[in-house]
Amino acid sequence: MSTIIDFHSHIFPDDVAKKAIPFLEEEGNVKAFLDGTKDDLLRSMDQFGISKSVICSIATKPAQFEPIMSFSDSIRSERLVPFPSIHPASPDAIKQIRTIKEEGFKGIKMHPFYQDFFMDSDELLPIFAEINSQNLILLMHTGFDIAFPEIRRADPSAILNTLQRFPDLKLVTSHFGAWKLWDEVKEKMIGKNIYMDLSYALEFLGQEEAKEMIEKHPADYLLYGSDSPWSGQQESMALIQRLSLDKFLEEKILGENAMRLLEN
Ligand SMILES: [Zn+2]
Repeated sequence: MSTIIDFHSHIFPDDVAKKAIPFLEEEGNVKAFLDGTKDDLLRSMDQFGISKSVICSIATKPAQFEPIMSFSDSIRSERLVPFPSIHPASPDAIKQIRTIKEEGFKGIKMHPFYQDFFMDSDELLPIFAEINSQNLILLMHTGFDIAFPEIRRADPSAILNTLQRFPDLKLVTSHFGAWKLWDEVKEKMIGKNIYMDLSYALEFLGQEEAKEMIEKHPADYLLYGSDSPWSGQQESMALIQRLSLDKFLEEKILGENAMRLLEN
Protein backbone atom coordinates (compact mmCIF):
# COMPACT_ATOMS: atom_id res chain seq x y z
CA MET A 1 0.00 0.00 0.00
CA SER A 2 1.31 3.38 -0.87
CA THR A 3 1.34 6.48 1.27
CA ILE A 4 -1.96 7.71 2.66
CA ILE A 5 -2.30 11.39 3.50
CA ASP A 6 -5.32 12.93 5.18
CA PHE A 7 -5.43 16.46 3.78
CA HIS A 8 -8.04 17.88 6.13
CA SER A 9 -8.06 17.28 9.86
CA HIS A 10 -8.32 19.25 13.08
CA ILE A 11 -6.68 18.98 16.47
CA PHE A 12 -6.41 21.42 19.36
CA PRO A 13 -4.11 21.91 22.32
CA ASP A 14 -5.17 19.37 24.97
CA ASP A 15 -6.77 21.91 27.32
CA VAL A 16 -8.61 23.62 24.44
CA ALA A 17 -9.86 20.30 23.04
CA LYS A 18 -11.66 19.52 26.29
CA LYS A 19 -13.83 22.61 25.89
CA ALA A 20 -13.85 23.09 22.11
CA ILE A 21 -15.08 19.63 21.14
CA PRO A 22 -18.29 19.63 23.25
CA PHE A 23 -18.95 23.23 22.17
CA LEU A 24 -18.53 22.47 18.47
CA GLU A 25 -20.55 19.28 18.79
CA GLU A 26 -23.39 21.36 20.10
CA GLU A 27 -23.04 24.10 17.43
CA GLY A 28 -23.08 21.69 14.53
CA ASN A 29 -25.30 19.08 16.16
CA VAL A 30 -22.67 16.47 15.39
CA LYS A 31 -20.68 13.92 17.36
CA ALA A 32 -16.90 13.91 17.24
CA PHE A 33 -15.12 10.64 16.35
CA LEU A 34 -11.99 11.54 18.34
CA ASP A 35 -11.33 13.73 21.37
CA GLY A 36 -9.60 16.47 19.34
CA THR A 37 -6.11 15.92 20.75
CA LYS A 38 -2.88 15.18 18.94
CA ASP A 39 -2.51 11.84 20.72
CA ASP A 40 -5.92 10.62 19.67
CA LEU A 41 -5.32 11.61 16.05
CA LEU A 42 -1.93 9.86 15.99
CA ARG A 43 -3.58 6.77 17.44
CA SER A 44 -6.15 6.85 14.65
CA MET A 45 -3.41 7.35 12.03
CA ASP A 46 -1.48 4.37 13.41
CA GLN A 47 -4.56 2.22 13.49
CA PHE A 48 -5.56 2.93 9.90
CA GLY A 49 -2.16 3.25 8.24
CA ILE A 50 -2.24 6.97 7.58
CA SER A 51 1.23 8.42 7.06
CA LYS A 52 0.50 12.13 7.36
CA SER A 53 -2.33 14.42 8.33
CA VAL A 54 -2.68 18.07 7.42
CA ILE A 55 -3.83 19.93 10.53
CA CYS A 56 -6.09 22.89 9.82
CA SER A 57 -6.31 25.63 12.42
CA ILE A 58 -8.71 28.56 12.18
CA ALA A 59 -7.97 31.98 13.70
CA THR A 60 -11.43 33.17 14.68
CA LYS A 61 -9.91 36.48 15.87
CA PRO A 62 -6.77 38.31 14.68
CA ALA A 63 -5.16 37.75 18.11
CA GLN A 64 -5.22 33.99 17.60
CA PHE A 65 -2.43 34.14 15.05
CA GLU A 66 0.34 33.84 17.65
CA PRO A 67 -1.11 31.01 19.74
CA ILE A 68 -1.93 29.08 16.56
CA MET A 69 1.63 29.57 15.34
CA SER A 70 3.05 28.24 18.63
CA PHE A 71 0.67 25.29 18.60
CA SER A 72 1.46 24.53 14.95
CA ASP A 73 5.16 24.67 15.71
CA SER A 74 4.79 22.41 18.73
CA ILE A 75 2.99 19.63 16.82
CA ARG A 76 4.82 19.68 13.49
CA SER A 77 6.56 16.45 12.57
CA GLU A 78 7.08 14.00 9.73
CA ARG A 79 3.48 12.93 10.29
CA LEU A 80 1.65 16.10 11.25
CA VAL A 81 1.66 18.94 8.73
CA PRO A 82 0.11 22.03 10.32
CA PHE A 83 -1.52 24.76 8.26
CA PRO A 84 -1.66 27.84 10.51
CA SER A 85 -4.26 30.55 9.97
CA ILE A 86 -4.36 34.30 9.51
CA HIS A 87 -7.45 36.40 10.16
CA PRO A 88 -8.27 38.61 7.16
CA ALA A 89 -9.24 41.50 9.44
CA SER A 90 -5.80 41.57 11.03
CA PRO A 91 -3.79 44.69 10.12
CA ASP A 92 -0.74 42.41 10.13
CA ALA A 93 -2.17 39.74 7.82
CA ILE A 94 0.36 40.28 5.03
CA LYS A 95 3.31 40.18 7.40
CA GLN A 96 1.87 37.08 9.06
CA ILE A 97 1.63 35.26 5.73
CA ARG A 98 5.36 35.95 5.23
CA THR A 99 6.06 34.65 8.73
CA ILE A 100 4.18 31.43 7.98
CA LYS A 101 6.36 30.97 4.90
CA GLU A 102 9.59 31.85 6.71
CA GLU A 103 8.82 29.38 9.47
CA GLY A 104 8.58 26.67 6.85
CA PHE A 105 4.88 25.86 6.95
CA LYS A 106 3.34 24.61 3.72
CA GLY A 107 -0.05 26.23 3.80
CA ILE A 108 -2.70 28.37 5.41
CA LYS A 109 -6.25 27.53 6.37
CA MET A 110 -9.05 30.08 6.02
CA HIS A 111 -12.74 29.77 6.84
CA PRO A 112 -15.25 32.38 5.58
CA PHE A 113 -17.85 31.59 8.26
CA TYR A 114 -15.64 31.52 11.35
CA GLN A 115 -13.66 34.48 9.98
CA ASP A 116 -16.60 36.48 8.68
CA PHE A 117 -15.59 37.21 5.09
CA PHE A 118 -16.80 36.72 1.54
CA MET A 119 -14.27 34.95 -0.63
CA ASP A 120 -14.56 37.25 -3.64
CA SER A 121 -14.62 40.56 -1.80
CA ASP A 122 -11.87 43.03 -2.74
CA GLU A 123 -10.53 43.06 0.82
CA LEU A 124 -9.22 39.57 0.29
CA LEU A 125 -7.23 40.40 -2.85
CA PRO A 126 -3.97 41.50 -1.16
CA ILE A 127 -4.14 38.41 1.06
CA PHE A 128 -4.57 36.02 -1.86
CA ALA A 129 -1.86 37.88 -3.76
CA GLU A 130 0.59 37.40 -0.90
CA ILE A 131 -0.27 33.73 -0.36
CA ASN A 132 0.17 33.25 -4.09
CA SER A 133 3.51 35.02 -4.28
CA GLN A 134 4.78 33.08 -1.25
CA ASN A 135 3.77 29.88 -3.05
CA LEU A 136 1.80 28.66 -0.03
CA ILE A 137 -1.17 26.32 -0.27
CA LEU A 138 -4.47 27.94 0.67
CA LEU A 139 -6.93 25.45 2.12
CA MET A 140 -10.23 27.30 2.05
CA HIS A 141 -13.46 26.13 3.58
CA THR A 142 -15.86 26.35 0.64
CA GLY A 143 -19.61 25.96 0.32
CA PHE A 144 -21.98 26.18 3.26
CA ASP A 145 -21.09 25.15 6.82
CA ILE A 146 -23.09 22.84 9.03
CA ALA A 147 -22.93 25.24 12.00
CA PHE A 148 -24.07 28.39 10.15
CA PRO A 149 -27.03 29.70 8.14
CA GLU A 150 -26.67 29.01 4.41
CA ILE A 151 -25.02 32.20 3.20
CA ARG A 152 -22.97 32.25 0.03
CA ARG A 153 -19.60 33.23 1.41
CA ALA A 154 -17.49 30.94 -0.77
CA ASP A 155 -19.60 29.40 -3.50
CA PRO A 156 -18.41 27.97 -6.84
CA SER A 157 -18.74 31.36 -8.57
CA ALA A 158 -16.57 33.03 -5.93
CA ILE A 159 -14.02 30.22 -6.27
CA LEU A 160 -13.88 30.67 -10.04
CA ASN A 161 -13.54 34.45 -9.69
CA THR A 162 -10.64 33.99 -7.32
CA LEU A 163 -8.89 31.54 -9.62
CA GLN A 164 -9.43 33.81 -12.59
CA ARG A 165 -7.57 36.54 -10.71
CA PHE A 166 -4.90 34.20 -9.36
CA PRO A 167 -4.56 31.31 -11.80
CA ASP A 168 -1.42 30.01 -10.08
CA LEU A 169 -2.80 30.16 -6.55
CA LYS A 170 -2.52 26.73 -4.93
CA LEU A 171 -6.09 26.82 -3.75
CA VAL A 172 -7.56 23.69 -2.23
CA THR A 173 -11.33 23.82 -1.96
CA SER A 174 -12.78 21.71 0.81
CA HIS A 175 -15.63 19.21 0.98
CA PHE A 176 -15.57 18.19 -2.71
CA GLY A 177 -15.56 21.72 -4.09
CA ALA A 178 -18.20 23.43 -1.96
CA TRP A 179 -20.15 21.85 0.88
CA LYS A 180 -23.81 21.26 0.02
CA LEU A 181 -23.50 23.11 -3.29
CA TRP A 182 -22.57 20.04 -5.29
CA ASP A 183 -24.95 20.70 -8.18
CA GLU A 184 -23.05 23.92 -8.84
CA VAL A 185 -19.74 22.14 -8.28
CA LYS A 186 -20.73 19.72 -11.06
CA GLU A 187 -21.76 22.54 -13.33
CA LYS A 188 -18.90 24.97 -12.72
CA MET A 189 -15.90 23.23 -11.17
CA ILE A 190 -15.76 19.57 -12.12
CA GLY A 191 -13.36 19.00 -15.02
CA LYS A 192 -11.25 22.06 -14.24
CA ASN A 193 -7.82 22.04 -12.61
CA ILE A 194 -9.13 22.91 -9.15
CA TYR A 195 -7.92 21.05 -6.07
CA MET A 196 -10.68 19.58 -3.95
CA ASP A 197 -10.43 17.66 -0.72
CA LEU A 198 -13.12 15.02 -0.39
CA SER A 199 -13.72 15.46 3.33
CA TYR A 200 -17.23 15.40 4.77
CA ALA A 201 -18.85 15.19 1.35
CA LEU A 202 -19.20 11.58 0.21
CA GLU A 203 -21.41 11.05 3.27
CA PHE A 204 -23.99 13.27 1.57
CA LEU A 205 -23.68 12.10 -2.03
CA GLY A 206 -24.99 9.00 -3.74
CA GLN A 207 -22.35 6.45 -4.62
CA GLU A 208 -22.92 6.72 -8.39
CA GLU A 209 -23.03 10.48 -8.19
CA ALA A 210 -19.77 10.70 -6.26
CA LYS A 211 -18.05 8.27 -8.60
CA GLU A 212 -19.13 10.19 -11.66
CA MET A 213 -17.92 13.48 -10.21
CA ILE A 214 -14.56 11.96 -9.30
CA GLU A 215 -14.07 10.34 -12.69
CA LYS A 216 -14.91 13.54 -14.55
CA HIS A 217 -12.41 15.59 -12.52
CA PRO A 218 -8.69 15.80 -13.36
CA ALA A 219 -7.13 12.87 -11.48
CA ASP A 220 -4.30 14.96 -10.02
CA TYR A 221 -6.66 17.40 -8.29
CA LEU A 222 -8.50 15.23 -5.78
CA LEU A 223 -7.36 14.71 -2.20
CA TYR A 224 -8.52 12.35 0.50
CA GLY A 225 -9.50 14.22 3.66
CA SER A 226 -11.49 13.23 6.72
CA ASP A 227 -12.34 16.47 8.52
CA SER A 228 -11.43 14.45 11.63
CA PRO A 229 -12.66 14.56 14.36
CA TRP A 230 -15.94 15.36 12.56
CA SER A 231 -15.71 12.15 10.62
CA GLY A 232 -13.51 9.12 11.12
CA GLN A 233 -10.30 8.75 9.13
CA GLN A 234 -11.16 5.14 8.37
CA GLU A 235 -14.81 5.88 7.56
CA SER A 236 -13.84 8.67 5.13
CA MET A 237 -11.35 6.42 3.41
CA ALA A 238 -13.91 3.63 3.13
CA LEU A 239 -16.31 6.00 1.35
CA ILE A 240 -13.69 6.45 -1.38
CA GLN A 241 -12.68 2.79 -1.50
CA ARG A 242 -16.24 1.52 -1.89
CA LEU A 243 -16.55 3.42 -5.19
CA SER A 244 -14.27 0.83 -6.84
CA LEU A 245 -12.27 3.46 -8.66
CA ASP A 246 -9.39 2.62 -10.92
CA LYS A 247 -6.50 1.53 -8.64
CA PHE A 248 -4.13 4.25 -9.87
CA LEU A 249 -6.76 6.92 -9.43
CA GLU A 250 -7.48 5.73 -5.90
CA GLU A 251 -3.79 5.89 -5.01
CA LYS A 252 -3.55 9.42 -6.34
CA ILE A 253 -6.52 10.49 -4.26
CA LEU A 254 -5.43 8.72 -1.08
CA GLY A 255 -1.91 10.10 -1.02
CA GLU A 256 0.07 10.73 -4.18
CA ASN A 257 -1.56 14.03 -5.06
CA ALA A 258 -1.15 15.31 -1.52
CA MET A 259 2.48 14.25 -1.43
CA ARG A 260 3.24 16.14 -4.63
CA LEU A 261 1.37 19.22 -3.46
CA LEU A 262 3.16 19.25 -0.10
CA GLU A 263 6.58 18.71 -1.66
CA ASN A 264 6.64 21.91 -3.68
ZN1 LIG B 1 -12.70 21.02 8.61
